Amino acid sequence: MLLVGFILFAGSIYFYLQNLLLGTLDDDLTDESEWVLRVAARREPFADTTGKQQFSESAQTLLEDHFSTNPRNYVVMLASADGTMLFESENWANLLPPPTDTPSEERVFFSRGSPKGNVRVCVARHDPYLVQVAYPEHPVNQALTHLLSIFALLVPIVLLFSVSGGWLFATLALRPIDQITEMANRISASNLAERIPGRAVPDEIGRLITTINHMIERLQRSFNQIREFSLNIAHELRTPLTILKGESELAMTKELSPEEARQLANTYLEETVRLSRIVDDLLTLAKADAGQMKIQQVSLRFEGLVGELYEDAQLIGSSKGLTITLERNDPVTLMGDSSRLRQLLRNLVMNAIQYTPAGGTIRIASKRDPHGVEVSVQDTGIGIDAEDLPKIFQAFYRSDEARAHSAGGSGLGLAISRWIAQAHGGSIDVTSSPGNGSTFRVVLPLT
Ligand code: ADP
Repeated sequence: MLLVGFILFAGSIYFYLQNLLLGTLDDDLTDESEWVLRVAARREPFADTTGKQQFSESAQTLLEDHFSTNPRNYVVMLASADGTMLFESENWANLLPPPTDTPSEERVFFSRGSPKGNVRVCVARHDPYLVQVAYPEHPVNQALTHLLSIFALLVPIVLLFSVSGGWLFATLALRPIDQITEMANRISASNLAERIPGRAVPDEIGRLITTINHMIERLQRSFNQIREFSLNIAHELRTPLTILKGESELAMTKELSPEEARQLANTYLEETVRLSRIVDDLLTLAKADAGQMKIQQVSLRFEGLVGELYEDAQLIGSSKGLTITLERNDPVTLMGDSSRLRQLLRNLVMNAIQYTPAGGTIRIASKRDPHGVEVSVQDTGIGIDAEDLPKIFQAFYRSDEARAHSAGGSGLGLAISRWIAQAHGGSIDVTSSPGNGSTFRVVLPLT
């Protein structure tokens, strides 16, 4: 493209200069022809004894002097209208034949070949005379040839510099991209802690490196979560399986009385129920993550759900020595999935019961506002440490206090609760003071 550009540029300059030089030459030829015509007009020719047209001697001398001293080597020929040659300069030497047909216009210019090379000719008519003035085109051609030689020398040099400079700059500019590619290729699941070295300059490449590094960071976080998740699953499944294995081994070593057999069957049942609850919860979460979990959109009386839940909580709570109160239960109709919403509220209330020691109080309240409903479950239980607060909605996360307090949980309840709230367009959050209790709040929109 650069070469094509250069050729176009050189070509335009060449043709522009050619026109300019020929134009200047044509102006000079015009001046000369006018001068000859002026001389001819002032000194009328006369017919000699043979009747042939002659030019006066003084005019002849004037023209001869003019053209013999003319430094630019003009050649000139003057003829009368009938074609009789009246004057020709010394160097005319039949350079051009007398024009056979006189030009219709007053003055014409053309280039033509001659024994002395190309000449530029001006034929001017001014009755009764016809004058031809010619000048070699050699100086014009020479200037153009010079120009061509300059271009022929300069264009390859400039081209060479531009191409090598362009190649060098492109290589320098793209080298960091190569480094990024190489580094990105090296990074895999096993070395996600590595980062592409940043650049001091905040240019496009610097921003690309930062973006890729952020992406690797996110990948690393996801990988860690998955790793932790797998470890937690294994851990949660191992406890009931170990109990089942231990009980079975024990049972095989001795004869069981009917009472012992009943107790053993009871333990089996409890652990199997726990296992299947974990598997069910896992399945729910996995389907929710994959977007395969359907949420029904049915119009439901929300205060009915809260009422039922309060009654259940009272039954379970009172046996544990807890006071359960329903502070408020505004009538609300909303669109949603009643079994999922029941599961969500149940998780919150069961957690409150599970993590509140005997003598504590659990307050349930459901408040309607113009946009939706806010349900709060407040307890006076063990509370949650500030550092655990952001993690409790992650699957399998259980605080150390929770583990010490109750072995029953699996750490999946809040993850499912959050998904249910979000699937209904709502949210869930928690505030807590360790040792004093926690308050879980669910906000659900009306539609
Ligand atoms: P689980 O209760 O089966 O352990 P959840 O997902 O329901 O699992 O809860 C996750 C963790 O959040 C619990 O292990 C506990 O540490 C904390 N938590 C939840 N509810 C409460 C509460 N009312 N009081 C104190 N801690 C709670």
